[in-house]
Amino acid sequence: MTGSREMIADSRFVVHEPFENKGKWNQVFGNDQPIQIEIGMGKGRFMMDLAAANPNINYIGIEKYSTVLLRAIQKMEENALPNLRFIRMDAEDICEVFDKGEVAKIYLNFSDPWPKDRHAKRRLPSRQFLERYDAILAKDGRIEFKTDNTDLFDFALEEIEPAGWQLEAATRDLHHDEKMLAGNIMTEYEEKFSSLGNPIYKYIIYRN
Ligand code: SAM
Repeated sequence: MTGSREMIADSRFVVHEPFENKGKWNQVFGNDQPIQIEIGMGKGRFMMDLAAANPNINYIGIEKYSTVLLRAIQKMEENALPNLRFIRMDAEDICEVFDKGEVAKIYLNFSDPWPKDRHAKRRLPSRQFLERYDAILAKDGRIEFKTDNTDLFDFALEEIEPAGWQLEAATRDLHHDEKMLAGNIMTEYEEKFSSLGNPIYKYIIYRN
């Protein structure tokens, strides 16, 4: 039986040498459309819905684990979208993959909480990661972060200022916040946790 690594290696939806495309992502898509990324995309539902709704934007879903990425590839086999690609990598190396200002927007959805203090720097909204995002995000770019995890959201809010970012908007109940809910696209985890009655938190941040 073919393993998930082999199936990923054969997939036309995966960019296999992401480091070689630094500064050249427009060539991958063959146009000059803005590029938005989701870090930790899981099975890719959010990226696929967003890409289908916005054909004039290019999307890249980044996922660390082959087994999860495989599910996204299988969905793309059924409904291929020209403006979506996947990368299997650890986001720690994101600065080696995108050039300064190459990314127009970053989505972080239901990032792993890493509850132990000593693992704080592994959390995707940590100041260490915000520094990496600063290096690749366009000047007027935004990060949009959603979670149902109170501790992670509180932590993420505390990281904004020390990392040199600014809060544009935040809610602790996205699904009952008319303004922030406009145009919301649900992720797999958002669907799962909101159906259990958990409120969904969201922030949007930028820097000057
Ligand atoms: N974003 C999806 C959603 O909202 O349904 C999936 C959320 S899931 C809890 C978090 C995902 O992030 C997992 O698939 C995990 O493998 C991935 N992930 C965690 N840390 C990562 C990292 N450093 N680089 C890339 N992916 C990562």
